[in-house]
Amino acid sequence: MNNNLLTVTSPLLPPLEEFIPYLQKIWDNKWLTNNGEMHRKLERQLAEYLGVQYISLFTNGTLPLITALQALEIEGEVITTPYSFVATTHSIWWNKLQPVFVDVEPETGNLDPRKIEAAITEKTTALMPVHVYGNPCDVDAIQKIADKHHLKVIYDAAHAFGVKINGQSVLNFGDISTLSFHATKTYTTVEGGALVCHSAEMKQKIDHLKNFGFAGETSVVAPGINSKMDEIRAAFGLLNLKYIDGAIANRKRITELYRSKLQDVRGVRFLQDMNGVTHNYSYFPIFVDSERYGMTRDELYELLKTHNIYGRRYFYPLISSFEPYCEYTSARKENLPIASKLAIDVICLPIYADLAEEDVNRVVEVIKNKN
Ligand SMILES: *Cc1c(COP(=O)(O)O)cnc(C)c1O
Repeated sequence: MNNNLLTVTSPLLPPLEEFIPYLQKIWDNKWLTNNGEMHRKLERQLAEYLGVQYISLFTNGTLPLITALQALEIEGEVITTPYSFVATTHSIWWNKLQPVFVDVEPETGNLDPRKIEAAITEKTTALMPVHVYGNPCDVDAIQKIADKHHLKVIYDAAHAFGVKINGQSVLNFGDISTLSFHATKTYTTVEGGALVCHSAEMKQKIDHLKNFGFAGETSVVAPGINSKMDEIRAAFGLLNLKYIDGAIANRKRITELYRSKLQDVRGVRFLQDMNGVTHNYSYFPIFVDSERYGMTRDELYELLKTHNIYGRRYFYPLISSFEPYCEYTSARKENLPIASKLAIDVICLPIYADLAEEDVNRVVEVIKNKN
């Protein structure tokens, strides 16, 4: 029996021999970091690939979130989602701002625009939604609220590399969007990330902030951080960009396979493609209705592990239940019924570009047979 270890994700690794010429170039240049040739090239190629105007590379996907809040000079309270990776809320904390949690939509797990206005106070200055699993938020409804209340919108688009709404990059909505290129993400530079903004002035400001605030050799204009991407990882990103379309096509095929094989399983829900959206198929979450399925999510999660299949409970626990945030009024479970339910129902199944069809079948058989 084929019982190899399956994890939720496996990194997109380009052929090693193709990486060597990039390294040779870096060695020839003797330029390892600080806006080198690879860095400049990757910014240009990503802007083109993603269909955005201004992009700045970062050393990971957390620092662009922190820097976005700093660059937009956000104060007071920031409305955000508990159904995300902790970095989303941590970025608010690092700016000494107050996160305010609002519940999510049951269909997507994205921040629910219908619930935002009730959480707005005179201290609210920004919204920080997340395109969970790469499914776009209701960007029009969110922008309407932001315009009405004069709020900035920062999208955590860590999952949304390459996602489009009616042909338009999802990164072009809101004031700033951020990406993560961590090894577990659909497109990776090992560690890495980026920030997308919509004016040359803002990009300039961001580029100063990610380089200690240096605006010139002898001038520091703000207390910036060091969040520069180095040449080796930029080169890795350039090479991986050649493979990303193929990787996303494979993920789509795997998603369709899962969907067709799981459609008759009682008590197991999964997400469908959204109208007009170009998806990246970055995750394949299932939501287990324990009563109808006959087993709890955690029982299924443990059962999968006995078959050497390691799913991930993204997102469980909710950010709002972690120690730094659990005492907030907005963190109360009564305030977040939908997110709380999704968090106890969800398992993200293995999905990555070179996941074999027989491995998908193996996962599905365990879910179907329940033993
Ligand atoms: C991965 C991720 C981040 C953080 O990215 P890093 O590159 O790991 O710092 C932020 N938000 C979300 C939603 C993520 O999934």
